Amino acid sequence: MKGKGAWLESTDGNWYLDLASGIAVNSLGHANLDLIEALEKQAKLIWHTSNLYSIPAQEDLAQILIDKTFADKVFFTNSGTESIECAIKMARKYYYDKGEIRKNKILTFEGSFHGRSMAAISASRAEKLTKGFGPLLSGFDVLSLGNFELIQSLDFNEVCGILIEPIQGEGGIISIPANFLKGLRKICNDNDVLLIFDEIQSGIGRSGDFFAYEYAGISPDIVAVAKGIGGGFPLGCCLATKEAASGMSVGTHGSTFGGNPLACAVGGAVLKEIFSEGFLDSVKQKGKKLRANLKKLVLENPTIFSSVRGRGLMLGLKCEVDNSKIIQAAYDNNLLLVPAADNVVRVLPPLNITYEEISIAAERFENMVEDLVSKQ
Ligand SMILES: *Cc1c(COP(=O)(O)O)cnc(C)c1O
Repeated sequence: MKGKGAWLESTDGNWYLDLASGIAVNSLGHANLDLIEALEKQAKLIWHTSNLYSIPAQEDLAQILIDKTFADKVFFTNSGTESIECAIKMARKYYYDKGEIRKNKILTFEGSFHGRSMAAISASRAEKLTKGFGPLLSGFDVLSLGNFELIQSLDFNEVCGILIEPIQGEGGIISIPANFLKGLRKICNDNDVLLIFDEIQSGIGRSGDFFAYEYAGISPDIVAVAKGIGGGFPLGCCLATKEAASGMSVGTHGSTFGGNPLACAVGGAVLKEIFSEGFLDSVKQKGKKLRANLKKLVLENPTIFSSVRGRGLMLGLKCEVDNSKIIQAAYDNNLLLVPAADNVVRVLPPLNITYEEISIAAERFENMVEDLVSKQ
């Protein structure tokens, strides 16, 4: 089994066009030469020292994130769940240190996915994630995305944070409208609440902006990151403003592996590419092309698909037939896709997929549909 760019070879020697990217992880494709070089170079220097010492690769990566985003502070993790865990602890500790110990509740949204630790499943509260694992952690209220006025009318005295994915991934590629995100920012400002974005799937260029929330023209207090930032190497982080992070003093939180030299060296190489001249623009352009192809597919096959969702290269097809059938038919045409809730199929290619590969994908989608129609 091996990979090259947007392609994966199975153990039996078949090549697949990978529009799954390990669920939005292999942001720069498989076996990317720059990432390999960064990893090899670091592997020959040092693998692990612990966070008792300063780690140059970690400091360099933190500096890039601080220079390029809203963040003043970066806490490195090994996964998305750990980044969310850090975000939740940070929000609670912020108000605790201000003497507002009752202000500890976090508001989340239906359809959200924040990981699989006890805190993360308690935050989402979806039955699929929580069944059999109770009792859940208290301190989370799940809101509907449908009724903004209801949210505005809530009592925020005991609320420390609002946590939301700007584009829900597992939930079915649901883009939260810019006005909704702006409204949440205003609620947080007016009621002294921290705004926390889960950009674990939607971030690091996937939406065509570095972070998907940028589209709403607002700035958050805390952002959880993972998946794409490591390009396939386990790496995540929790970004925050100086103010929001003020409760997380030395010794209050920690990680043995988080921010280790290998992960940070790779993360640095990923960001170098993502922030290179024209890269994010190319994601937008390629997203448009791919989206247009998918739109055509939907229009021509209304019995199979009903709509295209998402932004940039974080796209979803809402299906009229069972999404597992689509995934299988795609697989039979050497095309890899990912299922999501709400009977959606996710299309998450590496961000450096070529236009030629997008055309190959379009052909394979059409062949896949022919197979499905012939079986209907
Ligand atoms: C994948 C994901 C997580 C969890 O990340 P892990 O690395 O699997 O712990 C959390 N939130 C979102 C939006 C995700 O897509």
